[in-house]
Amino acid sequence: MPKSRNVLEEVIARLKAVYGRPAPPAVVDPLELILLENVAYLVGDEQREKAFEALRERIGTTPESILSAPDAALLEVARLGGINARQRAQRLQLIARIALEEFEGDLRWALKQPLAQARKSLKLFPAIGDPGAEKILLFSRSHRVLALDSNGLRVLVRLGFGEERKNYAATYRSAQDAIRDYLRDDYGWLIRAHQLLRRHGQELCRRSQPVCAACSLTDFCRFYQVGRVSHRPGTGGRARQPRA
Ligand code: SF4
Repeated sequence: MPKSRNVLEEVIARLKAVYGRPAPPAVVDPLELILLENVAYLVGDEQREKAFEALRERIGTTPESILSAPDAALLEVARLGGINARQRAQRLQLIARIALEEFEGDLRWALKQPLAQARKSLKLFPAIGDPGAEKILLFSRSHRVLALDSNGLRVLVRLGFGEERKNYAATYRSAQDAIRDYLRDDYGWLIRAHQLLRRHGQELCRRSQPVCAACSLTDFCRFYQVGRVSHRPGTGGRARQPRA
């Protein structure tokens, strides 16, 4: 590892060497990111993007355009995003009402508040918890945080950044505490780190039967090194902090 890199920077550099430099996110507006999260449920990225594009093209993504759209048009879009379409169509209307009533239709000023307050503001919206709020803050370049989806979180915990706790939220905070001192103060790097960790969790470091034989991170990975992968496939990792 080059001396100028810390351990997390080395992990991200190796993932970039394997998967390539990720394309910048297609959606970066905070309200659109909330709509993207809510427009689909339990579907892959491609179907979620298809539903979101239909929303953008047929209805629009401003609070006013959503609230003036016929219920049937919203339902049609929500159907593209999987099950529980009626509930999700109503959620899109709820999101529009919250955006207007709490933020006068423009979330950008709220996201410029201190991190804890900005996170709290975003959690007023349906289906947005700490991980979702942090993704919005990162992709909209409002706060320099390394947001993690469930795939990225699993990779970091297996590597030894943080540990599994009694629930997802506690595990998430444990990993965030563990990586805090390793982060770059650079939006581009943080966004790529989010994307690369997610992809690694989807492709190799899968929840069940991770493909460690093909992974370039084995020398950093406590989960691999203590032999849990071969003995207990599909479990999480309770690894210690990796070497700096
Ligand atoms: S070595 Fe295995 S458990 Fe560790 S990061 Fe790679 S795929 Fe995941």
